[in-house]
Amino acid sequence: MSYIVKCFDCGREVKDGLLDSCPTCSGLLTVEMDLSPLAGKKLKDLRKAPMGVWRYAPFLPVDQNKAVSLLEGGTPLYHCKNLGEKLGMKELRVKYEGANPTGSFKDRGMTVGVSRAVELGCKVVGCASTGNTSASLAAYAAKAGLGCVVLLPSGKVALGKLAQAMFYGAKVISIDGNFDEALDIVRRLAKEGHLYLLNSINPFRPEGQKTVAFEILDQLDLQVPDRIVLPVGNAANIWAVYKALTEFRDLGWIDKMPRLVGVQASGSNPIFKAFEEGKHDFKPVEHPETVATAIRIGNPASGRKALKAIYDTDGVAVEVTDEEILVGQKLLGRTEGIGVEPASAASIAGVIKLRQSGEIASDDQVVCICTGNLLKDPDTVIKNSGEILKSKATMEAVKRLISN
Ligand SMILES: *Cc1c(COP(=O)(O)O)cnc(C)c1O
Repeated sequence: MSYIVKCFDCGREVKDGLLDSCPTCSGLLTVEMDLSPLAGKKLKDLRKAPMGVWRYAPFLPVDQNKAVSLLEGGTPLYHCKNLGEKLGMKELRVKYEGANPTGSFKDRGMTVGVSRAVELGCKVVGCASTGNTSASLAAYAAKAGLGCVVLLPSGKVALGKLAQAMFYGAKVISIDGNFDEALDIVRRLAKEGHLYLLNSINPFRPEGQKTVAFEILDQLDLQVPDRIVLPVGNAANIWAVYKALTEFRDLGWIDKMPRLVGVQASGSNPIFKAFEEGKHDFKPVEHPETVATAIRIGNPASGRKALKAIYDTDGVAVEVTDEEILVGQKLLGRTEGIGVEPASAASIAGVIKLRQSGEIASDDQVVCICTGNLLKDPDTVIKNSGEILKSKATMEAVKRLISN
């Protein structure tokens, strides 16, 4: 396992492990893995290890033997025949990231990120979060015995995520502002040495998140789907997926790239707008708003990386309304028995939209990454699932209700 950290923008190598941006041009950082130890190898050589993040250890920039792990990854890839039939699609699949240890894909990045913090000898880790990053970081920090500080936008974090961060013992600070403001503060705290930053601008996080794409290809026996669809918030995950695909391609394990579809909520859609205008950079959205709190981000830190991922794969960005998100969420639950939080349902809503416009054809092979668990946001679930029927405690009264 050898690698360099370099600047996404100017390409210079960055040696100081504590920096979260390029000291020369302030650009985004990225890890470049040396894949030469894998030359001549095949995916089946990795399959002796159980499915999960660490099956792909040669692609990850930390020592597997010292990894802080909760056995993340190895999530199901469901073939959604019922929903597919409703949408006139034969090959619709859902990669269900809600099955991770803390209920979201963030665990894939956090096992690598927290392992890196331990390797660097850091004692306190921290992040700004719309919820899932803090839930995940708090759990991995607990496992590693590190202090943990999380900054959350007040009133805008789903209940399940807040409960998790508090439960695992993080210092939870509610900021009178939005995610973008919280991220700005925590970056400055990191710069002054108060904590090791584990937001996804930390280039080690996306390295772990690459494994969601590795697993999809692994589960499909390297049959490359036509499209991979996922929600875009702070925009590191779509970059991670893109990076994973390029690594398998560079090794010759796949010979084409799936087209990436980035889905944003229409109330916080800077990447969608930039894509519509054919731009490689974006203008932040000032007051982001959406029911999908995990992607309620106006100034995505990895936004330029996301645009590269979309353009390079001949992909698209699409926006969906909150109403479309909630319809997609319910449809997935009621046709497939799969429960996901609103941000994850954005990917389903995106497929519905692109299917209706004809952009997705009936025989396209499509994989939706559903990023987080239904129970993360119980308030939204209860609000959108209809009434509870109330009854007297008698057979007769109950019978009357069920025959209605
Ligand atoms: C973090 C998160 C996202 C957005 O991922 P980015 O890498 O910020 O684009 C989407 N859905 C869920 C459930 C998340 O927790």
